Amino acid sequence: MADASEIMTVPARRGRAQRLTKGQAIKIINVSGTQVCDTWAFNAEDLREFMSMEHMRPTLGTIFPRQGHHLITNRRRPILLFETDTSPGIHDTLIAACDDYRYGLLGCTTYHDNCTDNLAAGMRQIGLTPPETPSPLNLWMNIPVDPEGKTAWGEPVSKPGDYVVLRAEMDCIVALSACPQDILPINGANRQITDIQYQVLA
Ligand SMILES: [Zn+2]
Repeated sequence: MADASEIMTVPARRGRAQRLTKGQAIKIINVSGTQVCDTWAFNAEDLREFMSMEHMRPTLGTIFPRQGHHLITNRRRPILLFETDTSPGIHDTLIAACDDYRYGLLGCTTYHDNCTDNLAAGMRQIGLTPPETPSPLNLWMNIPVDPEGKTAWGEPVSKPGDYVVLRAEMDCIVALSACPQDILPINGANRQITDIQYQVLA
């Protein structure tokens, strides 16, 4: 097998899912530098086990996962190793995936693309149905937390071409959504939604 697959695209506003065998890795590339990528991982043998932000945070002792951290499931086992991060390391573990209800609260009166539906659509493309929408690892999403615990909607601090590498610690499905949030500035001040690219590494 080659060391790396072809480069694949998560189109702007859409979702994709990728199988990884234990030991393989996925390189996720922020082409524009301003695009948030909601990221999930499910045990390939039992989708009811998945990467869980609320189980991971106490294990890591931080709300900011960094290079070298083991990302943990709801059964408290490592599913992905956060192997490489070329960006400044600002990612979010607090905010739920966007959904159509969220956009309704933001004033949308018609359907708005959203990460919850993108997870389901991406999994459906490979013949799977997620058991629920776990809280995602929001790569490059910048949610500053002040000393009083207040949160804000920041803009990504990553630069074009920044990437992370997540290595599978069990056979798993990784799902990605190029977040279509274009009302708040979490995908940059000009609210432009862009493609994410990814590659499977041996
Ligand atoms: Zn989203």
